[in-house]
Amino acid sequence: MSKASDVRARQAEFLFPCVANYYKEPVVITSGQGSRVTDIEGQEYLDFFGGILTVSIGHSNPDVTEAVSQQMRTLGHTSTLYPTEGQVRVAEKLARLSPGKLKKSFFTNSGSEADETAVVLAKIFTGRQEIIALRHGYHGRTHLAMALTANVNYRLIPNQLAGIVHAAAPYCYRCPFGATPQSCGLECAKDIETTIQTQTTGKPAAFIAEPILGVGGFITPPPEYFQVAVGIVRKYGGVFICDEVQTGFGRTGGKWFGIEHWGVEPEIMTMAKGIANGWPVGATIATDEVANAWTGATISTFGGNSVSMAAADATLTVMEKENAPKRAEERGRELRARLEQYKEMYPWVGDVRGMGLMQALELVDDRKTKAPSPTKTNALMEAAKKHGLLLGKGGLHGNTIRIAPGLLISKDEMDDGLARFDRAMAEVK
Ligand code: PMP
Repeated sequence: MSKASDVRARQAEFLFPCVANYYKEPVVITSGQGSRVTDIEGQEYLDFFGGILTVSIGHSNPDVTEAVSQQMRTLGHTSTLYPTEGQVRVAEKLARLSPGKLKKSFFTNSGSEADETAVVLAKIFTGRQEIIALRHGYHGRTHLAMALTANVNYRLIPNQLAGIVHAAAPYCYRCPFGATPQSCGLECAKDIETTIQTQTTGKPAAFIAEPILGVGGFITPPPEYFQVAVGIVRKYGGVFICDEVQTGFGRTGGKWFGIEHWGVEPEIMTMAKGIANGWPVGATIATDEVANAWTGATISTFGGNSVSMAAADATLTVMEKENAPKRAEERGRELRARLEQYKEMYPWVGDVRGMGLMQALELVDDRKTKAPSPTKTNALMEAAKKHGLLLGKGGLHGNTIRIAPGLLISKDEMDDGLARFDRAMAEVK
């Protein structure tokens, strides 16, 4: 038995089977440096998915490693019962980088917890209970976050939480209103009003949405979508929770946060994944007014942990020094140009979408019927793996390839990755 098969067999025996992996023979990664990872057999791969858009500034980034090691030697944990310099410093940076009046943070350990915190805060602030989320949206794996998620693959038990309703997704390729970009009347944004009027008391607490729907397959809304949607929510007295767990920290190119492209300032924003380059940090940031509404006690034992904060602080320092949003914009442009070529070359590429270093290919069996092709998607995943390139998958039907390398990927590495991508595309039958 190979070393990899041994790990896979022990995983099957000792982990929940819901710990699902990519590939027929999942890769057992043992080390990573920058944009590359190596598996247990010594095979090297270019990593174009970064642990689900999380290794934002490269594997084993030396600045993060140094900061974390030093912090571990000094102080590992205090809990939020004591103020720490590290937690305050990261909160100050988030206030500086976040759009609009977002100022006060609460730290947890994951995106799910960040979203849970946001929803509780919105309910406390407004004194209301109902939440509007989007179809195809993903907000996490905890009970409430699962109920906010509108994707059958991640809804393992029925939604038993009253007061969560889902509006139409701004999914242009499969417009739920049958519109084309030429005939688009932003029906998807207007659907928020219909949803409020038909499925709520008319007094929503909040609208939660991702600026680009990540797990949904990098669904990128029309540019005016958020202004109209959030305008409606505010008209009915609700607040806007922006879920930046995937889109945050330069990922979408040119801006620190995805929502900045859409010209809307959220009352509450959530972050995780890329914030600490792989260390477990979730953050919920809110305006002064909204954050100050939560006066009761709450504790996150590991939230704001000293080592996690050292990782986040070092990650943000590197991102600022390297201007990660600009780098993502430049490399993203090259990536996008190649993906557009694939659309010309291969009839089974139905849609190319995304922003910055968050780009997707939606694969179909037929361009006219747009029948989803999970088969071709899996074939492309396997072919890319054979050529030493790790990609991501997504979409309701598992037919979208998600491409999201580290934000500091070099031009040479991008060229190398795209050459491997070319070879993989040519092999898909
Ligand atoms: N929100 C979004 C947009 C996400 O993509 C995810 C994770 N895929 C989450 C929330 C939940 O994050 P976590 O897995 O860290 O709980």
